[in-house]
Amino acid sequence: MGEEDRVDAHESSPEEATKKKKRRRRRRRRRRRNTAEEILAARFVRRWAFPGAPSGDDEEGEGEGEGIASPLRRERRVVFELHAHSTCSDGFLSPSALVERAHRSGVKVLALTDHDTMAGVAEAMEAARKFDIRIIPGVEISAVCSPREEAEAAEPVHILAYYGSWGPAKFEELEELLANIRNGRYLRAKEMLLKLSKLKMPLKFEQISNIAGIGVAPGRLHVARAMVEAGYVENLKQAFSRYLYDGGPAYATGSEPVAEAVVQLVSRTGGVAALAHPWALKNPEAAIKNLKAAGLHGIEVYRSDGKLSAFSDLADAYDLVKIGGSDYHGRRGNEEPDLGSVDLPVLAVFEFLKLGRPIWCNALKEILSTFPEEPSCTDMEKNFGFGNQLDLEVFSSMSCGKDSLDLCRSLWPTIEEKEASELEVIKMKLS
Ligand SMILES: [Zn+2]
Ligand SMILES: [Zn+2]
Repeated sequence: MGEEDRVDAHESSPEEATKKKKRRRRRRRRRRRNTAEEILAARFVRRWAFPGAPSGDDEEGEGEGEGIASPLRRERRVVFELHAHSTCSDGFLSPSALVERAHRSGVKVLALTDHDTMAGVAEAMEAARKFDIRIIPGVEISAVCSPREEAEAAEPVHILAYYGSWGPAKFEELEELLANIRNGRYLRAKEMLLKLSKLKMPLKFEQISNIAGIGVAPGRLHVARAMVEAGYVENLKQAFSRYLYDGGPAYATGSEPVAEAVVQLVSRTGGVAALAHPWALKNPEAAIKNLKAAGLHGIEVYRSDGKLSAFSDLADAYDLVKIGGSDYHGRRGNEEPDLGSVDLPVLAVFEFLKLGRPIWCNALKEILSTFPEEPSCTDMEKNFGFGNQLDLEVFSSMSCGKDSLDLCRSLWPTIEEKEASELEVIKMKLS
C-alpha cells in the first residue's frame, strides 16, 4: 500500500507513541476550530451542494448561542464521494441502489465514475432526486502512460473526469473514445481467458459476460469474480495478487488511448481531469509531469486511511487540486473502504469546485449555444450532454423550449449562475 503505512508501522517506541498521541490531539483541537477560510469555504460548498436551500450565512449563530464569540464553530460537513462504480461497469450495485447506499452513508454529493461509460449517470440523477443528493456526472477512463523508452511496457493509468450537471459538451466525441475502449475490453477479456486456460483455469466467455451483465464491457474484476465462482482462487484479492495484476500471468492489455490524449479530450469536453490512485503507478512523478503538461487538473491524494503526503507534495509541486474517493464497488465483506469514508477537507472540496465551476459553466454555454433558433424535441435530446441517455420521456412530455429550459435551470448550480445573462439570451431565443 502507500509509503506512509509502512513508515507508521515502524514507529513503535513509547516516546514516539506519546508524541504521536499529542500530535494527534493537537490536530484534533485544530480541527475543532475552523479557520475563517474554512468557514467561507464551507459556505461556498454548502451553497453549491444545496442550491435550492436558503443561504446559510447565519448558520453559525444557530444552536449553542455562542454567536460571534465563536464564529469558527464547526460547520456540518457536506460529505462528498468522488469515486464510485455501479453495475454499468464493474460495481455490484445498480446506479439507483448506489445512490440509496450513498444516502444511508450520509453522502450528499456523489460522483458516479464508472469505467469508460456514463451510462449510469441518468439513472443515478433520477434516483438522487428522492434523497436530495447531488450527482456529479463522471467517468473513470482507462488509458496508458506513454512509455518513456521503446522497450518499456505501457503502464495502465486511470483518468477521472468530472462534468457539470448537464454532462460533457461534445458528448459524441467523448462517447466515441469511450466506446472504443469498451470494445477493446471484450478482446482483452478473451485474451485473459486464453491465458487462464493455458494456466489450467479454463473459463467460458459466457461466464464473464453473465457476471458483467447485458451490454456491460467486461473488466478484470468480472474475470476475477468468475475465477472465484469456479473455485480457482479463494477470493478476489487472490485472483488479482496471483494472476490478474498489471503484467501478471493472466493479465492482458486492452486498446486504451494514451493518457495525455484523454486528459486533453476531457478538458475539451468541459470536464475536470484528475489522475486516479497515483500510488498504483511505478513512476507517478513522471506521469504527473506529463499529464500536467496535457492539462491535468487534479490528482487523488486522500484515501479512507488518510492523506498521502507524498502525493499531496506532488500536487503542490505541479499545482493540482487534491481530491480523493473510496473507489467503491459494493463488494461484499471488508474488501474495500465504505462509500463516503474518505474525509475530504472542506478546503480541498472548495478548491475542486472553484476550479470546476467555470469549466462546467463554459460547457453548459457551449451545449446551449448548439441549440438552433427554433429547437425541436429531437434537437433538445441530441444536444443534451448525455446524448440520448437522459430520460427522454421527461422531454417528450413537455412542450419544447421554455419547459426544457426551466428543467435545465433547475439543474443549474447556483442562484448567481441561474441569473447569468447568457441564459437570459437563450431564454429569449427559446420563448
Ligand atoms: Zn481505477
Ligand atoms: Zn475506480
